[in-house]
Amino acid sequence: MGKLVWKDAREHAQDVLENYWDGQFPVKIAAISKAMGVIPYQASLPAGVSGMIVKKPSEQARSYVEASDMETRRRFTLAHELGHYVERVDVSDDNDFSFVEKREPGQYDLHEFYADEFAGALLMPEQPFMTMLDEGKSLIEIAARFGVSLDAARKRRERLRTNQPEVV
Ligand SMILES: [Zn+2]
Repeated sequence: MGKLVWKDAREHAQDVLENYWDGQFPVKIAAISKAMGVIPYQASLPAGVSGMIVKKPSEQARSYVEASDMETRRRFTLAHELGHYVERVDVSDDNDFSFVEKREPGQYDLHEFYADEFAGALLMPEQPFMTMLDEGKSLIEIAARFGVSLDAARKRRERLRTNQPEVV
């Protein structure tokens, strides 16, 4: 593994934005996911599960988000699942995998770190995000513009300031 994980995740998110984003806010994550070959579904998932992605050989990938979650949460989960897809298919050429997102913290490994970093970079593109910060916009305004939770906007701000992974 040559490159740093966070850098790799951000570069891939930037590639996706350049190829699939219409330049509008909030970033249309469901449409981008479909265009990349991951069909998103809302479903009633098992207790304690917020999302998942399933990819079988010669089948299209499917991602699932918990239908009762808030829209900001569902958007981030969809972007996170797309991050798993990008890492497994585009980067590792893996055609048979699944990830399940549990609400309880615990199994936070490099795959989860990659998917979170990718999701943040995809939903909150760096340039417009930094511009809003420079203009003195509040995190509430920023979160509303990008269609993310306050927590997600705060985390993205931290990540862009430090440029370092919090967990490795
Ligand atoms: Zn995950």
